[in-house]
Amino acid sequence: MAKTDLRSMDSVELEQFIIEMGEPKFRAKQLFEWIHGKHAAEFSEMTNLPKTLREKLENTAKLPQAEVVRKLVSQKDGTRKYLFALENGSVIESVLMKYEYGNTVCISTQAGCRMGCRFCASTLDGVERNLTAGEMLSQVYEIQKDCGERVSGVVLMGSGEPLDNYENVLKFLRLINDSKGQNMGQRHITLSTCGLVDKMYELAEENLQITLAVSLHAPNDGIRNSIMPISKANPMDTLLAACRAYAEKTKRRITFEYAMMQGVNDSDACARELAGRLRHMLCHVNLIPVNDVKERAFVKSSDERVRRFAAVLQEHGVETTVRRRLGSDIDAACGQLRRGYLKK
Ligand code: SAH
Repeated sequence: MAKTDLRSMDSVELEQFIIEMGEPKFRAKQLFEWIHGKHAAEFSEMTNLPKTLREKLENTAKLPQAEVVRKLVSQKDGTRKYLFALENGSVIESVLMKYEYGNTVCISTQAGCRMGCRFCASTLDGVERNLTAGEMLSQVYEIQKDCGERVSGVVLMGSGEPLDNYENVLKFLRLINDSKGQNMGQRHITLSTCGLVDKMYELAEENLQITLAVSLHAPNDGIRNSIMPISKANPMDTLLAACRAYAEKTKRRITFEYAMMQGVNDSDACARELAGRLRHMLCHVNLIPVNDVKERAFVKSSDERVRRFAAVLQEHGVETTVRRRLGSDIDAACGQLRRGYLKK
């Protein structure tokens, strides 16, 4: 019989599992604390559980682990990139970013991705599988163990489309926020989506205080269709209507990500068109010079062009920031560490 993954269970499910084993309810609380409070890797570590229970758990349950197979540490700013191997041999990457206000981890939600964005390395071979909630948590827990400091924020911006793995991602969000576990504030969590409109409406109903980031990367459907295939089924008018509805419902400001690609989406005319579409929305634009991906033909916009684009948006009243580049000396941008490893 397949063993049950306890790391992906919330406290209600754990309690159910423990009761079905014929054990008293309070054991579920202890288990939860071991898994999400102390980040135990093995049942044998759980010294306040009777030995007989630990043995029963060994036989029926498991704690799937993300195992570090490669690690790159930036000498400039302490950014760390991790390549993790999962239970079935899938590999994924995660990044630790050190900010003055705390440590943030960028996690993957799928091994690979099926959204097909033309500038992204994660999607080159399609999606391999969805990650479980436990595998998403493991990335945070293992990085926290490795760096020896608390991780206080998470961005779902590694490989994968979070809203294409909706149930598991929602479970992850609730588990990482649990006060008996990592107790991470929802306002320290950012979920990034390429714009799956139906799921965005669903997410708006979940009553979460997380930040929603939307990968826009274009001011109109013409340009967006040419770089993001998903845009054909989710045109910009529909997408921006969903963004407005989300901001209205949650009262949370949306972040629009905009990867600047030379000669593709970075002209003053693009900036003006974008400003026109975002006017009066509770939002802010984050400009990111596109990362070079060797399989992809896009070239990043010059610093001067990025500054000018930002200035045009700001002149039109759209709040804009330019993303600071971390870990530039260990650059293996957006899925390339994983790809390099798989191709060996
Ligand atoms: N699937 C989600 C989250 C993962 S990608 C999404 O699309 O939002 C996280 C961010 O990195 C997205 O904004 C994505 O468009 C961007 N990205 C992907 N490849 C990139 C590249 N080569 N340079 C800059 N940003 C890139």
